[in-house]
Amino acid sequence: MILIFDLDDTLYSETEFVKGGFRAVARYANIKWGWNYQKSISTLNKIFTNNGRNKVFDHWLIINDNWSKKNIDKLIQVYRYHNPKINLFNSAKKILKKYKNVTPLYLVTDGNKNVQSHKINSLNLWTIFNRIFITHRYGYEAAKPSIHCFKIIKRKTGVKWSEMIYIGDNPKKDFINLNKIGVFTIRVLTGSYKNLKVSKNYEANVRIMSLDDLPSVLNNRYQNHIKK
Ligand SMILES: [Mg+2]
Repeated sequence: MILIFDLDDTLYSETEFVKGGFRAVARYANIKWGWNYQKSISTLNKIFTNNGRNKVFDHWLIINDNWSKKNIDKLIQVYRYHNPKINLFNSAKKILKKYKNVTPLYLVTDGNKNVQSHKINSLNLWTIFNRIFITHRYGYEAAKPSIHCFKIIKRKTGVKWSEMIYIGDNPKKDFINLNKIGVFTIRVLTGSYKNLKVSKNYEANVRIMSLDDLPSVLNNRYQNHIKK
């Protein structure tokens, strides 16, 4: 058995990262344009809550009559390179500690290469996992739902697909192709997708409320395998 984890909203709250980025951007706008810091934070949060993460800074600069390509690029840079104050979920801490040195641990995450490795540094994950895959390092087409990085894990470890377990939170892309090849998929009901209902082929084999429930799912599966 090898355990493969997603990163954002599976091991820590991505919202924490986003909020930290907003603080950095609000600080920048305060210094650069004299904008009120608290007001900036509350506007950014409001845009984020209403529209999601997409184009938050575009909206914000348009509202303030300050949109330009240069300003957008700068804000995105400040956001991406802020020093993230993020923490693993307590359940994630416990699980990683429990399974480290017991079974091989892998991480497969999408997203901007620099941002993701920044998060991984901040969460101190490099030494916990046998190997970490930031899919974009293998080209954009290697992002989930592509199974490109999972194939590399299979080749390196020599395990069967059925011996691989993937734990993620996003049913739009985390499980669909892994289900087809028989990887055991587990969905943690956290983050912005927790209430999302999807058709059966997009859904994980098992859903859990938090990573605290992972050991019992794995024990069950392991016992069933022995019975067979
Ligand atoms: Mg995720």
